[in-house]
Amino acid sequence: MTAPLHPDLEPVFDEVLRRNAGEDEFHQAVREVLESLAPVVDKRPEYAQASIIQRICEPERQIIFRVPWVDDEGRVQINRGFRVEFNSALGPYKGGLRFHPSVYLGIVKFLGFEQIFKNALTGMPIGGGKGGSDFDPKGRSNGEIMRFCQSFMTELYRHIGEYRDVPAGDIGVGGREIGYLFGQYKRITNQYEAGVLTGKGLTWGGSQARTEATGYGTVFFADEMLKAKGESFDGKRVVVSGSGNVAVYAIEKVHQLGGIVVAASDSSGYVVDEAGIDLALLKDVKEVRRGRISDYAAERSGATLVSDGSIWDVQCDIALPCATENELLEADATALAKGGVRLVAEGANMPCTPAAVRILREAGVAYAPGKAANAGGVATSALEMQQNASRDSWSFEHTEERLAEVMKGIHDNVLETAEEFGSPGDYTAGANIAGFIRVADAMLAMGVI
Ligand code: NDP
Repeated sequence: MTAPLHPDLEPVFDEVLRRNAGEDEFHQAVREVLESLAPVVDKRPEYAQASIIQRICEPERQIIFRVPWVDDEGRVQINRGFRVEFNSALGPYKGGLRFHPSVYLGIVKFLGFEQIFKNALTGMPIGGGKGGSDFDPKGRSNGEIMRFCQSFMTELYRHIGEYRDVPAGDIGVGGREIGYLFGQYKRITNQYEAGVLTGKGLTWGGSQARTEATGYGTVFFADEMLKAKGESFDGKRVVVSGSGNVAVYAIEKVHQLGGIVVAASDSSGYVVDEAGIDLALLKDVKEVRRGRISDYAAERSGATLVSDGSIWDVQCDIALPCATENELLEADATALAKGGVRLVAEGANMPCTPAAVRILREAGVAYAPGKAANAGGVATSALEMQQNASRDSWSFEHTEERLAEVMKGIHDNVLETAEEFGSPGDYTAGANIAGFIRVADAMLAMGVI
């Protein structure tokens, strides 16, 4: 099923499997990067001499901790918290926190590993890390969410800091959770250290356009891919999976660029809305009422709810998977290709399985991996850190402009690198190689640490 590795990289991957048994998502993420690195191994033997690839695959630090808290009935609940500080060659560890029942060490490590290369691609001074908990926020009251966040931070605070490790949001962690986490950090440390977390509220250290950044950035990236083919979003039929932070703002930007998003989803099903998703209603359902996609379907005339089946059966020109890892399978890629999809750009992290990516490639579909296409979120987090450090705050327009420039820069760098290393037009190879080289060169310069 997988592509062969360079012979020098086979033992590296075998060691990753041996050391990280049972962590399937982490294996998948490492394998995908190693598959791209064959031309680098041949051209840059100094990396092998310093065991750079082996070192990059081993996190600098992995922290696992107990998170006890009291629910609304007075019962004590216990969750597990994680922070994997993967690589700090380019700057403080940077990456989100995910609260979802599926979270375990293998998920956090896959996300942290991806984050190293994504952050390197932004060109900004940020290392890679990720964290989270198996806590399930669904159905929990505000009070429960707050008590959980306070307990989580009561342990995490000793590991993070503006110059050390800077968490942000991810699945299940939005503005509300960042507020509770920041409040507890501030209370414990007795310092207003704004740069310790990103995704903060606009009145207390947050950046304009950070909420929108991942979704907008994904669409900016897809727009660059279209421009490279002499096309645009105008009049295109688009399917966006998910209806969380990334999905909502991807939909918003597609509509601004003249495309029409005809389907969106959550974990309970998907809606088809041929007139185009009504974003005001979707935001009200998801961001204000914290409801389900079925509520959208019930309130929107002409929209149809499909509670079993795959959103990728909906015919489209452009597909933007923005929900979660491994949500777009081989059969989905086949259905999309049959329906004439032209472009797939990942708003989520690793949403397409390796088999799905192969089908898309064989069908000639332009495909961009998340570590390039969704890097706008973390890039804008770095802009938030920059504003915090200079006690400044920029306008929405200025910040969005910077985001668009960063996405164009990543797009062009990825394509140029792919060309230079013998895989013209291959966004996966270009992203993996360009991200890797930036980190590897910094590690080489710093010696064996
Ligand atoms: P949210 O929690 O805001 O939204 C997640 C969305 O995906 C929800 O609609 C959720 O539905 C759906 N979803 C989650 N898990 C599943 C599942 N197992 N099956 C089907 N649907 C699911 O998260 P974000 O929008 O922040 O994150 C989405 C993706 O984007 C993730 O892969 C994340 O790692 C990635 N990402 C996020 C960034 C950010 O800035 N937020 C930055 C870069 C990448 P439901 O509510 O029913 O669970």
